[in-house]
Amino acid sequence: MTEQATEKLCRKCERLLPIEQFRRERRKDGTYYYSSPCKDCYAFQQASWYARNKAKQREKRREMARQWRATHPGYHKLRKKPSQVDPEKRRAAQRRYRDKHRDEINAKSRAYYAANRETVLQQKRASKIRRAYKRQMKGKQS
Ligand SMILES: [Zn+2]
Repeated sequence: MTEQATEKLCRKCERLLPIEQFRRERRKDGTYYYSSPCKDCYAFQQASWYARNKAKQREKRREMARQWRATHPGYHKLRKKPSQVDPEKRRAAQRRYRDKHRDEINAKSRAYYAANRETVLQQKRASKIRRAYKRQMKGKQS
């Protein structure tokens, strides 16, 4: 049973529109049908979903940061605990690892950067601020 209709009623905006105003979708069996929300409604749905999701993600990140701060009071002081690994040794180990896996790491980080440019840049800015803050704290202590 093929739909030969030239017009279709959009369930969303309830407009009777020419069939070209609906997206043609393919069924698993290879036949086609016109999806119900018209192109306009579909675009609107996509856009509003994206906007909602973006706001939700931002809120989630903010909430996580809030929780982290709440559970880690005096974070910068905690970093100095003697129970932590000797920073020199840790740095040396990291250096050895980087030398050994340089190509692999470079390729990975390039791919990651390409896919998450915004996030990477944001993280860079954040760590720059953290480093500056740490330097400041250090200067005050000695
Ligand atoms: Zn519509």
